[in-house]
Amino acid sequence: MLIVQKYGGTSVGNVERIEAVAKRVIESKQEGHNLVVVVSAMSGETNKLLDFAAHFSKTPNSREVDMLLSSGERVTSALLAIALEAQGYPAVSMSGRKAGIVTDNVHTKARIEHIDTHEMQAALAEGKIIVVAGFQGVTHNGEVSTLGRGGSDLSAVAIAGALEADLCEIYTDVDGVYTTDPRIEPKAKKLDKISYDEMLELASLGAKVLQSRSVEMAKKLNVNLVTRSSFNKNEGTLITKEDNIMEQPLVSGIALDKNQARVTLRGVTDKPGIAAVIFKKLADSNVNVDMIIQNVGHDGTTNLGFTVPQNELEMTKTAMQELNASEVVEYDSDIVKVSVVGVGMKSHSGVACKAFDTMAKEGINIEMISTSEIKISMVIQAKYGELAVRALHSAYQLDK
Ligand code: ASP
Ligand code: MG
Repeated sequence: MLIVQKYGGTSVGNVERIEAVAKRVIESKQEGHNLVVVVSAMSGETNKLLDFAAHFSKTPNSREVDMLLSSGERVTSALLAIALEAQGYPAVSMSGRKAGIVTDNVHTKARIEHIDTHEMQAALAEGKIIVVAGFQGVTHNGEVSTLGRGGSDLSAVAIAGALEADLCEIYTDVDGVYTTDPRIEPKAKKLDKISYDEMLELASLGAKVLQSRSVEMAKKLNVNLVTRSSFNKNEGTLITKEDNIMEQPLVSGIALDKNQARVTLRGVTDKPGIAAVIFKKLADSNVNVDMIIQNVGHDGTTNLGFTVPQNELEMTKTAMQELNASEVVEYDSDIVKVSVVGVGMKSHSGVACKAFDTMAKEGINIEMISTSEIKISMVIQAKYGELAVRALHSAYQLDK
């Protein structure tokens, strides 16, 4: 098999850890696999480099930031290649450029446009283990680019797609994807398999095992992804096509998103075009609006509520001020969003009802609701977030 393995920052956090990763890579090699290994920078390294830059400027030139940040991954890729060779296993490290990862020219958040795999193919043909510096590529102008924070997951998935690898294993310091955050509900169970779409909901809702963009890309390129720990031998979680999952559970997981804030506009004029103006303004300000609720109008006005990420609340306030509208605007950061996620709910009724019923039994007021084919989300007061997660987890028998 051709396997792409990606090791995150804690997995390569020091020389001892790199040694342990080398061992693990060698074990896969001994099993007869061809290997491309993608590495992150040592944990904390990227932040440290950003701090150095901040010493000189609040707004450092983004080309220079990319030159700076890309170095972190190059250190670990070279060290791992050296460690592998020292054990007698031919290896070669590659920068994003050498690996043929061509991106657009948006520095610090570049998108991969295509991967020219011939250098990698040639090294694989020679039996070498390739160690690619994650998180980076090269622009059409030959400049180093980086893919946005957490971007080495994306490197791994894109490489797996381009090489048509059999498997892409993402090694981190957690065992896989859980039915909910085990720190909130100790009875949470590790999932053996989950579909791309469920994972996307769980990832964007705060189950931070994988960068969302990398799951989207895995889905697009049909890459079988496994997340597992580099600290033990446990099986991990396979993220794959829905068709590959035989028994689809009704609900796969409960997510808690604490990074939400609610904006309420009171006395919005109830006439065509108002929502368009408000949300156009927010889109232009790059605010990611999530849930939207508009009440039935009364006396020519209505109320409009929506949620935005907490760290975009300041941007939202500025945008609202610039609109200079007559509405009363209220902001509330003291909310969370709990979501029940599962592909099985596509074909079952009563799933939402159970969620509402569970909240009722706990005496928790639901302030906003939104649903999709595979998700029910509820906005509630922040102080009830963890209670709600536990109650829902047990109501859908995820602990069984
Ligand atoms: N080192 C980069 C970061 O910290 C990329 C990664 O770890 O995936 O964001
Ligand atoms: Mg990472």
